[in-house]
Amino acid sequence: MTAGTERPRILDGKSTAKQIRAEVAEGCAELTSRHGFKPGLTVVLVGEDAASQIYVRNKQKAAVRAGMESSIERLPLDAAESRVLETVARLNDDPAVHGILVQLPLPGGIDDQKVIRSIARHKDVDGFHPENVGRLWTGLDAFVPCTPAGVVELLRRNEIELRGKHAVVIGRSNIVGKPMAALLLREHCTVTVCHSRTVDLPAVAARGDILVAAVGRMAMVTEEFIRPGAAVVDVGIHRVEDEATVRELFGDDAARLAAVRERGSTLAGDVHPLQARRRAGWLTPVPGGVGPLTIALLLRNTLQAARHAVQGSDGAR
Ligand code: NDP
Repeated sequence: MTAGTERPRILDGKSTAKQIRAEVAEGCAELTSRHGFKPGLTVVLVGEDAASQIYVRNKQKAAVRAGMESSIERLPLDAAESRVLETVARLNDDPAVHGILVQLPLPGGIDDQKVIRSIARHKDVDGFHPENVGRLWTGLDAFVPCTPAGVVELLRRNEIELRGKHAVVIGRSNIVGKPMAALLLREHCTVTVCHSRTVDLPAVAARGDILVAAVGRMAMVTEEFIRPGAAVVDVGIHRVEDEATVRELFGDDAARLAAVRERGSTLAGDVHPLQARRRAGWLTPVPGGVGPLTIALLLRNTLQAARHAVQGSDGAR
């Protein structure tokens, strides 16, 4: 599209996630009717952090709606690392559990990486185990982290050309930025990964035909970061609670202003929405963009784990 003349097309994560969840539900029904069991997902939750409780409950509900068995293993905030490791070991040995997800971050004093390494690779539906990470980078089948896998699905299902395009990823975390780069490379993009030490970030970002923002800084990606017509994917999630910021980000958007007045907040991403609309060719909304895809891809990974269990293989081959 030509810059500044039209609004960007919306990359609707909600409807893509719905499609994927329906496909997973179909797969679960087929597996259950053929083999007489449901895929099982267990989430390990340590402590009572309010946001984590909500995320975990949403994951559980979505799994059950897709036709899976789902349970939550709750451990107290002061649980020792050894207890978390014992819980994971028990779930590794339980044939009814196909996917294990440990809700991160874990409380201080527990080594996240050690716990992740203790998950059986073929049950690591978050795709964080170093062996799955290595498999992804070496081109083998692997469980792939859900958020970046969701981004690729969103781009592909909207028929956004990836092959040969320049993709710029802002952020290099193990959860989003790095696996995002690996997946875009696998799709034959030319990939640039940016981070807090990147020099002249806006100019580097503006080379991207595809720009993925996973920075964790609200509205940092402004107009000068965006190549005219680029597909802009906003992974960030931030709560906005004051009207002045809502106006700065969304203008006089009545629904946003009403959300803050009536519910106390609305959500924004790492991309400045008003400025992005002036330049982007495609744009993910926040909420309703990347967020819904994360859970949908978690369900897909769990179904994949259950299918591999039936085939007697060791999971993601
Ligand atoms: P992290 O904080 O782990 O990583 C942020 C990355 O951004 C780092 O690599 C950091 O660089 C880089 N960065 C930070 N500040 C700057 C800056 N000023 N300029 C350039 N780069 C910068 O975050 P996550 O990857 O876990 O998450 C990113 C965002 O995505 C967050 O808002 C998070 O809430 C959201 N998120 C959303 C999900 C969803 O389902 N939609 C799922 C997961 C995350 P450096 O490495 O140099 O420090």
